[in-house]
Amino acid sequence: MSNIIGNYVGGSTVKLNGGALQDVFNPSTGEVSGQVQLSTSEDLDEVVEVAKGAVSEWSRTPVGMRAQVMFRFKRLLEENADRIASTISSEHGKTHDDALGEVTRGLEAVDFACGIPHLMKGTFSEQVARSIDMYSIPQALGVVAGITPFNFPAMVPMWMFPNAIACGNTFILKPSERDPSVSLIIADLFKQAGLPDGVFNVIQGDKVVVDAILDHPDIAAVSFVGSTPVAKYIYSRGASSGKRVQALGGAKNHMVIMPDANMDQVVDALMGAGYGSAGERCMAVAVPVPVGKQVADNLMDRMVPLVEELPVGPPDDSKAAMGPIITRQSLERITSLLQSGVDQGAALLVDGRDLTVPGFEKGFFIGGSLFDQVKPEMDIYKEEIFGPVLSTVRADDYEDAINLIHGNPHGNGVAIFTRDGDAARDFASRIEVGMVGINVPIPVPVGYHSFGGWKQSLFGTHHIYGPETIHFYTRLKAITSRWPAGIKSGAQYNFPTMN
Ligand code: NAD
Repeated sequence: MSNIIGNYVGGSTVKLNGGALQDVFNPSTGEVSGQVQLSTSEDLDEVVEVAKGAVSEWSRTPVGMRAQVMFRFKRLLEENADRIASTISSEHGKTHDDALGEVTRGLEAVDFACGIPHLMKGTFSEQVARSIDMYSIPQALGVVAGITPFNFPAMVPMWMFPNAIACGNTFILKPSERDPSVSLIIADLFKQAGLPDGVFNVIQGDKVVVDAILDHPDIAAVSFVGSTPVAKYIYSRGASSGKRVQALGGAKNHMVIMPDANMDQVVDALMGAGYGSAGERCMAVAVPVPVGKQVADNLMDRMVPLVEELPVGPPDDSKAAMGPIITRQSLERITSLLQSGVDQGAALLVDGRDLTVPGFEKGFFIGGSLFDQVKPEMDIYKEEIFGPVLSTVRADDYEDAINLIHGNPHGNGVAIFTRDGDAARDFASRIEVGMVGINVPIPVPVGYHSFGGWKQSLFGTHHIYGPETIHFYTRLKAITSRWPAGIKSGAQYNFPTMN
């Protein structure tokens, strides 16, 4: 196997001598497309040394010059969006347009980072006491790291490193071992943009290297995006070694359909948000919640033929609405959850198992599935399926829908479809979820707001990208200065006051 996917350290790709390798698949064909290096804690030590060596110079580089690098990086990303999207599709399986959409949304964080001179201005107060001024300045933390999931191999890393680097930190990215190649394209583009060597580094690997990151004394902060059990672990292990940690976890997103909703809009929204990217999105709608029997019956009648005819195929099939699942193991997990739904008494109105795509018989494909009559105690409701499955829970009334959502441990995204402004306003105010859509099924905030769930969907205080990210990746220094110096003579034994 010649395609070894290595690390990126100090401005070049590094292939390690020896060490374990893990297969990377093309999920459409089921074939191995490369092998990713599984780095060790010793490999990480070397990367940290390089990143540490670059901090002083980069954090002292004038902020306007750091912004210029971001502007050039942004242009290169735009010019290479198609190539990046093709690489995403070949290892992840999502359609080309979906992959392009991911790159575009990731670019929003780069746009935001281009404004770093404004974002790092700090604050100044003149004459806080006689001849004394004071100012607070945000400064970089040092070496910071990001650990990312498979489902957005370009966008989620971009939620982290552009702003971390713009703030003056150096960055170590640990991408998902299931689709690691995009990280190396990004690293190369950053170098072309003029980023000094050692500022952006990539270390490939699995839990071994993640643990080494969490324990490393010279890494000041860790951003994580992935599943809830791992997020919880990352948060507690990282924090216990004194790091700043933000750990975004999994989701189970509900979409409430009120009786007055526009059903054409609802059906389109559910098809896109439930089955787009084969449901492998943390903001995918997983649970339609029709309010009232009539709405539920009507919704199921309309959804069944659409889900049955949902076109599935490889990423370059322009007619395909969704591609394959990331790995065979994930596919098997989804099919066993589908079976558990049947066994536990849910009504499987459309069964996507046993789908074959002609010419791609070994690919990890599954069709869209639709459950009705799901109850909160069933595994298909309790587990994050992370596949093309909608699990409909019928609500008797609006309060019933709210109670259902509040009983769920996740709080990433939620949506309500209604034409009643009063209900929408009440919902947005009361619902205990971090990101809310009103007639919008996937309410991912734009790059100049911040992204983050509540409850088990986020551990830590800071949301990711946007304004919150600047707080996360910097620490404040407050400076109190007296000019001219030495107006008063003699020691002051009282606590200093304005007088
Ligand atoms: P995952 O938790 O399995 O892996 C995420 C990262 O953690 C990977 O880099 C992986 O190598 C590492 N990892 C996995 N197991 C580990 C362990 N035991 N110890 C230490 N590190 C470990 O997640 P995934 O399957 O790659 O991605 C899908 C999950 O990510 C879903 O749960 C999805 O909801 C979630 N997600 C959340 C958001 C969000 O913003 N909240 C965004 C995207 C994805």
